Amino acid sequence: MGILVIHFRNLLLPGINPDEPADDDWLYRRLLEELMKITVDMDKCIGAGLCVVAAPKVFSQNDDDGLVIVLDETPPADQHEAVREAARLCPALVIKLQEDE
Ligand code: SF4
Repeated sequence: MGILVIHFRNLLLPGINPDEPADDDWLYRRLLEELMKITVDMDKCIGAGLCVVAAPKVFSQNDDDGLVIVLDETPPADQHEAVREAARLCPALVIKLQEDE
């Protein structure tokens, strides 16, 4: 009977080098580095759409009223800079980011 070995760190965070030295708070630190949470005050969105231009993989607009639709409230790290740009460009300043980087 064979033994199946699974690197559980790879299951949680694909792309992480399994040979990277681990310590007690390794996973905690990696999760914090990756975390971004987006919230939008929908009552103040004016439908300008600049967020969609800056980060089209994360924001879309409602066909009816043009208001923002957040496609991914916790986007992956490769979208973080685009999301920060969207928050900077938003004329209504309604995109709020929680980050632990
Ligand atoms: S840029 Fe701001 S105001 Fe314009 S659609 Fe996006 S969230 Fe709404």
